[in-house]
Amino acid sequence: MAFIDKLSAGIPTLSYELFPPKNPAGWGTLYGTLGEISKLSPDYISVTYGAGGSTRSKTVDLVARIQNELGIESMAHLTCVGHSRDELRDILATLEQSGIGNVLALRGDPPKGDKTFKPHPQGFAHASDLIKFIKSDFKLRIGCAYYPEKHMEAASLESDIAFLKLKQDHGAQFTISQLFFDNESFYRFRDRCATQGITMPFVAGIMPVLNLGQLNRFKELSGCAIPESMVAFLSAGSAESVADRGVEFASRQCVDLLKNGIAGIHLYSLNQSSSSVRITENLRKLGYFPLAA
Ligand SMILES: Cc1cc2nc3c(=O)[nH]c(=O)nc-3n(C[C@H](O)[C@H](O)[C@H](O)COP(=O)(O)OP(=O)(O)OC[C@H]3O[C@@H](n4cnc5c(N)ncnc54)[C@H](O)[C@@H]3O)c2cc1C
Repeated sequence: MAFIDKLSAGIPTLSYELFPPKNPAGWGTLYGTLGEISKLSPDYISVTYGAGGSTRSKTVDLVARIQNELGIESMAHLTCVGHSRDELRDILATLEQSGIGNVLALRGDPPKGDKTFKPHPQGFAHASDLIKFIKSDFKLRIGCAYYPEKHMEAASLESDIAFLKLKQDHGAQFTISQLFFDNESFYRFRDRCATQGITMPFVAGIMPVLNLGQLNRFKELSGCAIPESMVAFLSAGSAESVADRGVEFASRQCVDLLKNGIAGIHLYSLNQSSSSVRITENLRKLGYFPLAA
């Protein structure tokens, strides 16, 4: 069953996110990870779009390979950064010609050193503009991003939610979150979205913590809250056991979300299979995401 049909039917989806590596060693690791993740019967695998440079063209190559060689539904991320409309049209056409059915339409971050996002003169300033463009000219299914604890640049949570509604109005069919660790903030956010008429399925982006050093970086990059209870849980054993405890924390977080009606779980695998495999196994042991007979 296509993942969009599962989402429409209220059946939770399980997906994984990869990125195109910058060097040959990274590709070796990625192919190993892809092999492991393929065995998990993902509903889809998404591939991120680089901020610039040579990895960008690799996104299309990689999603095409996942779709056509591995037979796994795939989704390409695409950003407005540095692209004119004509360039975006060409990329979207290549996706469709390559048999890719899904795109995660994003604005992208300002380049390093810039505080504000400057759109390409012939491009788009917001993800909602890109979504409208895709919807009018392509048959691709469109996803978008959301931020349960507010996007870093947003003036307020209210305005951020209003712009999420605009993404839905312009054609987004589902939405995937920025990483978060505090489910309560997500539930509050979802309730507020419901009052604003946002009905598209909410997929949770889940990041398994590998080491404590990552936490400050996550907070700095995304503005997510780092709950003290999580830090205490992750720190309770030896430094070597943090990744194991990260798997346990993420598994419990997913179970709570699934019990509370999340539409899907999207694991940020960071091209490493171990935590994603173990979280998936934990969820399957509890009866979630059963494999087709
Ligand atoms: C699941 C997920 C996957 C991601 N994948 C990638 C990736 O592959 N590559 C990458 O470079 N980045 C990726 N990102 C990061 C993303 O590009 C950044 O978070 C970016 O800063 C915002 O993108 P957006 O699509 O949410 O933008 P937008 O929806 O355009 O929002 C950006 C900001 O502008 C505001 N805003 C939105 N619309 C309007 C409007 N019409 N008028 C005024 N203000 C508005 C919003 O409130 C927000 O503060 C991903 C993020 C997530 C959550």
